[in-house]
Amino acid sequence: MRLDDFTAKIASMLGVPCPELRFAATLSTPTQIAAMDSENLILTLRSSASDLDAAFAVAHELRHLWQQQTERFDLDEHAVPGSVSTIDYNLQAEEIDANAFGALVMESFFHVRPTFPSLPPNLVRLIDARKHTILEEEFQ
Ligand SMILES: [Zn+2]
Repeated sequence: MRLDDFTAKIASMLGVPCPELRFAATLSTPTQIAAMDSENLILTLRSSASDLDAAFAVAHELRHLWQQQTERFDLDEHAVPGSVSTIDYNLQAEEIDANAFGALVMESFFHVRPTFPSLPPNLVRLIDARKHTILEEEFQ
């Protein structure tokens, strides 16, 4: 599946507008793979990212768009990448939800299970728990 078709599919699944995809060699932090400009609906992906990493990033960023539109999460206090430690950043409820959604999408579309090797086990368990909640609340 082409990345722009995949993006359109996930956007329609979440009921959010489909962003324009762009590619850039560098983003604001060395580990960042994607950046969403939600005002202008432009999703910039790191050009060196693998296809699977790019697909995960698309699902993750579209979930943030869904979080904004449904107002189920308070994004006003959301730390920007690089302003806090990687662990603190990923402990934010919005990140746990976006990572869990991204993992569910990767499992159902590509049959790969993201294991989040850079995150500590307790945080991975929170992401797993959130996956179950999403499945129960949104996909039953
Ligand atoms: Zn995020």
